[in-house]
Amino acid sequence: MIKTNGIPFLDLVTPHRELREELLEVFNSALDTAGFIGGAVVEAFEREFAAFCGVSQCAGVGSGTDALRFALIAAGVGEGDIAVTVPNTFIATTEAISQTGARPVFVDIDERTFNMDPRKLEEYLNGECCVDGATGYLVDRKLGRRVAAIVPVHLYGQTADMDPILELAERYKLLVIEDACQAHGAEYFSKRDGCWKKAGSMGLAAAFSFYPGKNLGACGEAGAVTTNDAELARKIRMLRDHGQAQKYYHDVEGYNGRLDAIQAGILRVKLARLPAWNEQRRQSAGHYAELLGSTEGVAIPVEPEWSKAVHHVYAIRVKDREQLQRHMAAEKIATAIHYPVPLHLQKAYATSGYQAGDFPIAERCAAEILSLPMFPGLRYEDRIRVAECVQAFLGVEAEAAFAAMAGSSRG
Ligand SMILES: *Cc1c(COP(=O)(O)O)cnc(C)c1O
Repeated sequence: MIKTNGIPFLDLVTPHRELREELLEVFNSALDTAGFIGGAVVEAFEREFAAFCGVSQCAGVGSGTDALRFALIAAGVGEGDIAVTVPNTFIATTEAISQTGARPVFVDIDERTFNMDPRKLEEYLNGECCVDGATGYLVDRKLGRRVAAIVPVHLYGQTADMDPILELAERYKLLVIEDACQAHGAEYFSKRDGCWKKAGSMGLAAAFSFYPGKNLGACGEAGAVTTNDAELARKIRMLRDHGQAQKYYHDVEGYNGRLDAIQAGILRVKLARLPAWNEQRRQSAGHYAELLGSTEGVAIPVEPEWSKAVHHVYAIRVKDREQLQRHMAAEKIATAIHYPVPLHLQKAYATSGYQAGDFPIAERCAAEILSLPMFPGLRYEDRIRVAECVQAFLGVEAEAAFAAMAGSSRG
C-alpha cells in the first residue's frame, strides 16, 4: 500500500475551524454581558432543541448523565425501585439509575440492531415479575422491588424498537425514559401512530448528551432533557438548580446541574448544522454498507425499515476483532470499541449477582464489534481505504472490493 496519512476515528478539529468566527462571537457576547449561567441564550437553545426533537419542553442540564438522573428522579423513580435497561451501553445509563436509589436490571439485546430486544423485555416482565395484590405495582419476584421504569438506549444513533416497548410499558404501567444520548435526530416509524417520530419524543422524557464527540457536541460538558410534560420539565429545572423555583427558596434538595450560556450558544450554532452533518453520516454509512455489505466475515449494522439512524457510531462485527484493530492501527486507521465489556460483567457491578452467560447476545457482540471511522467530513476515498483495509485483513481480494465499488455512487 502507498504511504498515506492516517484516518482519524473522529475529526473534531475541522468543524470548529469552519465555525470559528461564529463560536468566537458566542464567547465574546458572553464576556460582554457576563451572562454565563442561564438566561436568554440557554432559553433560546432549549426552544430550538425542543422544536428539533418535536416536543414542547427542553431543559438544558450539565451533562447527559445529569439529564438521565434528573429525568428519572422527576418522574418519581427512586429508592427501592428497578429500572430495566440493556447491558451494552455506556455506564452513565446505569450510574444515573443507581444514583436515584433504584437498581438497574438488564435484559438482552437484538443482535441485528444492538438495541433492547422487546421480546427479552417481555420475558423479564412476564416471567420474573408479578403484580403485587396490595399495591398494584409490578414487582420483581427475586429482588422484591417495584419495577418502575424502562430505559431503552438508542445506541450508535439508532432508536430502539419503541412500539412494542411502549406497549409493554402501558400494559405494566411503567415509565419510559429514553437514553437518547447518542441519537440526536434519529427517527423511528411508529406503526401505532402511523408516523415518523424523533428520538427523544417517544417516552415520558428523554436524555441527551452534548459531550464533544456526540453528533451534537458542546465545547465542554452539556446535556438536555426533552419531554412533552410541562410539570416534569418544571421539576427538572428545579433539580438542576439546587431545588429552587425562586432564588434562595428551595422546595427540595437539588443539584448543581445547569447548562451554561456559553455552551448553549455554541450548541445553537451547531444545531443549525446538525441535519446536514447527520445526512453526511448517513451517506458514509450507506457507502460503507455498499463496500462491506457482501464481504464474507463482516456483519454490517442493520437499519430496519422503521429506522432512520444518525450513525453516531458505525460498528461492524468480525470474529477476530482484536487482530483486525491491530491491523488497521498499523495502517494508521483509528478504530474504537463501544463497548468492550458489557455492564453486567464490569467490576463496578461485581456484587450485583450477574455472571458471564447471563446476556449471551450482548456478550457475543461485545467480543466482536469494532467501530470504524465515522464523522461528518469523512472523505469518500478514506471510506474506501477503510473498507479495503478490512477486506485485506480478511483475505478478500482487493479486486472484489473494486468490483463492488464500480457500481457505487460517489457520496
Ligand atoms: C454519552 C452517553 C451518556 C452520558 O452523557 P455525558 O454527557 O457524558 O454525561 C449516557 N448514555 C449514553 C448511551 C451515552 O453515549
